[in-house]
Amino acid sequence: MIQITVKDVAYAYGRKQVLRGISHVFEPGTFTAIMGKNGSGKTTLLHCINKMAAGFSGEIHLGASDVRRLTLEELAQVTAFVPQGQDAVFGSSVFETVLLGRLPFMTWAPSETDYQIVDEVLAALQLQHFSTTDIRHISGGERQKVFIARAIAQKTPVILLDEPVTYLDIKHQLEIMTLLQELAQRGYNIVMVVHDLNLALTFCSRFLFLKNGNVVYGGDQSQINEALVESVFEVGASTMRDATGRRLFSFEVKD
Ligand code: ADP
Repeated sequence: MIQITVKDVAYAYGRKQVLRGISHVFEPGTFTAIMGKNGSGKTTLLHCINKMAAGFSGEIHLGASDVRRLTLEELAQVTAFVPQGQDAVFGSSVFETVLLGRLPFMTWAPSETDYQIVDEVLAALQLQHFSTTDIRHISGGERQKVFIARAIAQKTPVILLDEPVTYLDIKHQLEIMTLLQELAQRGYNIVMVVHDLNLALTFCSRFLFLKNGNVVYGGDQSQINEALVESVFEVGASTMRDATGRRLFSFEVKD
């Protein structure tokens, strides 16, 4: 169980200030949706947490460890990262790709446990029948599932995902979101950049809204109202209830 503590984090690409003093605590056992308009700094924040954006100011701790002091190997035992839109350049099988998630834990060769973990994750994501297929020969959505499977196989207490469901069909979206929600309920700390507010409201337990590199809202969904959504996403927004009583938003272009 690992808490992510982000304190006063600022980041600039050259002269372009992208994060302007972000403070937020991501608690273990929660599934957080990071949301905001394109360019608001969501990916950059994930990159700071995962030490891919070097040179941020402020502090980020994973549990008690200062991220800056962790070696990449130590980091890979705490966080798994699923970047945006990964293309399969190399031809390896689905099984081999997911097995790569075990690399931070291997000494010189995969153990029986590593193989077993990969089998379990492939089964959980219904990817077993693709096990021996070259990842270049499956659909983009299925490939995305394989990359998520690789992160889950890493078995780290923290999983960071950058728009993992954006290009998936509805069935795959629901499968992935359900699995991530279950992992969070088991104590994992799941942090995901996502654009679909209604999908996030259905599955996520925490929300971090960014605007121009600032936190506009951090908390559960009880305080997410039309005015907040209109301001963060710069659209008209209204709420409604679906047949099960769930609160959802509809949107319209605002002049
Ligand atoms: P989001 O994920 O919310 O769309 P990003 O964190 O990707 O936002 O980007 C925030 C801003 O930083 C954007 O304006 C983007 O153009 C800029 N940016 C992102 N990556 C780089 C980079 N490598 N070099 C320069 N500017 C960048």
